[in-house]
Amino acid sequence: MRIDGRTQLVGVIGWPVEHSLSPAMHNAAFAALGLNWCYVPLAVAPGQVEVALCGLAALGFRGVNVTVPHKQSVLAVLDSIAPDAAAIGAVNTILIARDENGVASLHGYNTDAQGFIGALRRGGCEPQGKRVVVVGAGGAARAVVHGLLEAGASRVTVLNRTLERACKLVSELGDSRLEAQELTPELLLRAADAAELLVNTTTVGMWPNVQESIWPAGVAVPPHLTVFDLVYNPLETLLLRQARESGARAIDGLGMLVEQGALAFEIWTGRSAPVEVMRTACEQELHRA
Ligand code: NAP
Repeated sequence: MRIDGRTQLVGVIGWPVEHSLSPAMHNAAFAALGLNWCYVPLAVAPGQVEVALCGLAALGFRGVNVTVPHKQSVLAVLDSIAPDAAAIGAVNTILIARDENGVASLHGYNTDAQGFIGALRRGGCEPQGKRVVVVGAGGAARAVVHGLLEAGASRVTVLNRTLERACKLVSELGDSRLEAQELTPELLLRAADAAELLVNTTTVGMWPNVQESIWPAGVAVPPHLTVFDLVYNPLETLLLRQARESGARAIDGLGMLVEQGALAFEIWTGRSAPVEVMRTACEQELHRA
């Protein structure tokens, strides 16, 4: 990669950011399309978001991704927020635009919901008319549930360890197709039996806790289910292994990471993203780790 006076800069703000796959994913995409752009990790401490974004605008950055813990706090600093991001209540992509006088403005998007739905469809599951169980009620769950409702799911049951958080998500997204339940093995099995799609949006099963699963040990996953795990490290979580071994369809979280990244790439560059190049770059990075 050659950095010179014309190099356009983008990056990711988060705390921490050192394990992010996004620099490898986006820099591979820029290289594949011959674009003189560079994507850098930017560690921004909690409380420093406003000053960081003003600095990035002044430094000529074209945009940034936003990750934990800043996805909600950036909302207050933006000049505009896309309808999806406003409904979800979180931003994961910022476009820094400039007028003819070079005055910068910040525009927020959320590509997680569309990224999730895109990955689900690529995995062979059409959400329209489906009954869905979403486990977890954190930031990722909000995007997933919004995406499912927009895509026409017929019922979405949100199960979470902390019931109040699931209730809050359901009341804030405000849709009659939504219901909240506490995450217990019994309620999970009952909800999954009556659904076609199960989505794990919790951190359960993520490295280093690779022996953990939201699905009870020794119980078969209903083979009619599609199981989507947002966790992508490891690529095959214990939950996905349980699904495959029971004959259910299993979709890993890397597809969503790549799809949301591809949408951000297109917002910044106006070019169609090389999705396969991006996925390969992420896989190589995961193998290296
Ligand atoms: P978050 O806001 O911190 O939410 C974490 C969720 O996990 C909460 O619902 C929490 O329940 C639940 N949880 C944590 N430990 C648990 C346990 N031991 N048992 C049951 N539930 C537990 O995190 P997030 O930002 O939503 O991210 C969640 C996961 O999605 C992460 O693994 C992240 O890497 C992944 N993700 C993937 C993509 C992708 O592109 N593939 C995108 C975004 C996120 P409580 O409310 O009870 O604490």
